[in-house]
Amino acid sequence: MSKFHPLPIASVQHETRDTIVVTFAVPPALKESFHFTQGQHLTLRAMIDGEDVRRSYSICSAVQDDALRVAIKKIQGGVFSSWANTELQAGMSLDVMPAMGHFNVPLSVEHQKNYLGFAAGSGITPLYSIIKTTLLAEPLSSFTLVYGNRASSTVIFREALADLKDQFMGRLSLIYVMSREQQDADLFNGRITADKCKELCKKWISLDDIDTAFICGPEQMMREVAGALAEQGMQKEKIKIELFAASIPSHSHKPRAALAEGNQQCEVTVVVDGRHLSFSMEKDKESVLDAGLRQGIEMRYACKGGVCSTCRCKVIEGKVDMDANYALEDYEIARGFVLSCQAYPSSDTLLIDFDQDN
Ligand SMILES: Cc1cc2nc3c(=O)[nH]c(=O)nc-3n(C[C@H](O)[C@H](O)[C@H](O)COP(=O)(O)OP(=O)(O)OC[C@H]3O[C@@H](n4cnc5c(N)ncnc54)[C@H](O)[C@@H]3O)c2cc1C
Repeated sequence: MSKFHPLPIASVQHETRDTIVVTFAVPPALKESFHFTQGQHLTLRAMIDGEDVRRSYSICSAVQDDALRVAIKKIQGGVFSSWANTELQAGMSLDVMPAMGHFNVPLSVEHQKNYLGFAAGSGITPLYSIIKTTLLAEPLSSFTLVYGNRASSTVIFREALADLKDQFMGRLSLIYVMSREQQDADLFNGRITADKCKELCKKWISLDDIDTAFICGPEQMMREVAGALAEQGMQKEKIKIELFAASIPSHSHKPRAALAEGNQQCEVTVVVDGRHLSFSMEKDKESVLDAGLRQGIEMRYACKGGVCSTCRCKVIEGKVDMDANYALEDYEIARGFVLSCQAYPSSDTLLIDFDQDN
């Protein structure tokens, strides 16, 4: 699970002026490893100008499609997205880690549920996977998507969404909100903010009937929408969020004024792919991930900023203090999961397991 596999690229299509859709040709021997759930993401790795660069990209195909696909939007000055948009071609191969992430809910053919999605820009990618998978798997459920963009020309999956609307007559409602293109009703102009969310809920969406809301996009939009939904009475457990944020400012660890009683050193054991690997580290100096990587242990990671959750692992024994966390939900923390890139040991011994998912 922690390993990168070189996957051949079957095709690279230009979805908009600055977004490509990359489809992988998964060899039969790796099909099982690359099985995914709707809303999950892949970690891609490339050597760019001699640097090992890793980034997360949400899978944008439905589980039933039998296709592994991501959409990469070029960010101005962005290392990986610019490289991918110019260099990637069919026939090349790219290092890819199997799917991970928990931006989903269990589906059942018997469910009769109403789902709500809020996406902005490239935040549509996991939502597209979730919507298509859900409507195919749950014939009695329906989905409302509020999708924010600058203008029609920048809308990722515009045609694919229109096709879904035709395919699932009456079960998919699409609400486009545009910030730089005038639409007939004022309600659909501007950005997706807390106020916009409240207005939309007043006029178009009956929140009492919504079973789960999925939100994906930049941090501010996500916070505003999640806050507005909660303010209108939606329970926190019904709101699922996925942050796409390389926009989070990088922060450095602030050492604690005084360490708890005990040794300054921690004896760490890491379980990766069934192997137990041990090393010593200073408690408050570096994250468990950085310390482990320095020892040559192959611990999986990508953003190192507490956002992508690639380095998620479970504390089995001992304690850590976590700095930033933009990825784990409360129930995961309650079960002992931590982000190893943000985890600093506070006990004399620590056992963490990368192989546990639940
Ligand atoms: C779980 C997860 C799933 C993701 N899925 C997708 C996806 O499906 N499609 C997709 O295109 N991206 C997705 N991302 C974002 C992606 O991982 C990269 O962060 C993004 O492509 C930028 O990488 P880069 O190397 O080009 O930019 P970097 O070199 O890392 O950043 C360069 C500069 O651009 C700024 N920047 C980076 N990203 C953004 C942004 N989104 N908005 C504004 N400024 C930014 C940074 O602050 C930095 O100053 C996802 C992220 C996460 C955590």
